[in-house]
Amino acid sequence: MKIVDAYFMQSAQSITDSPSPDVAEVAFLGRSNVGKSSLLNTLTNRKGLAKSSSTPGKTQLINYFNIKFKTNEEESEVPYLFARFVDLPGFGYAKVSKSLKKEWNKNLTQYLEQRPSLQIFVHLIDSRHPHLPIDDNVDEFLNLIKRGDQIIINAFTKIDKLKQNDLSKLKRDNPTGIFISNLKKKGVEQLEKAISEYLFGN
Ligand code: GDP
Repeated sequence: MKIVDAYFMQSAQSITDSPSPDVAEVAFLGRSNVGKSSLLNTLTNRKGLAKSSSTPGKTQLINYFNIKFKTNEEESEVPYLFARFVDLPGFGYAKVSKSLKKEWNKNLTQYLEQRPSLQIFVHLIDSRHPHLPIDDNVDEFLNLIKRGDQIIINAFTKIDKLKQNDLSKLKRDNPTGIFISNLKKKGVEQLEKAISEYLFGN
């Protein structure tokens, strides 16, 4: 299955002003600068879809995108299937005031914990720093809240910056991970496949 269309739907501050949860959702989360916007743009083949911001913490909204997948079978009665990608603000940013950060984290964790349509957590981790405390925290948190109908995908970014030996070790240590270079266009199709297989079973 391939993503053939993607467009911005709406932004929300919290779960309360989010769209109705009637389409399966895939949430993308990670530290600021991990390469989330770049990956979303490559995945959807839309250059400016997710705004890649050089100011950490600038985007503090939950952004919803409608995603259209084309099924493999030409003759299929259902040629297209739909999902929603949800771009969550990067965590670990510095330039946000303490109180806003607190407020934001509350909204973010509430979305992660309570959204009934959320099916996949894509946790983006910088492959050069796979065990930063913030990422280990997020990992622990996600494993704690994950429902039976949800999965976590650990996507390691910027693998083009790793030496071959270090990449091999990272893969050994994380056998279920997906290893991505947006620059070299590696791992992106594999992520697309993992998402569509889980959501649609093919
Ligand atoms: P975001 O803050 O997580 O949305 O990160 P961005 O997508 O804005 O990327 C942050 C920086 O990392 C930018 O300078 C990107 O060009 C760079 N970047 C993103 N993906 C890759 C990658 O796969 N390889 C390398 N070398 N740089 C990347």
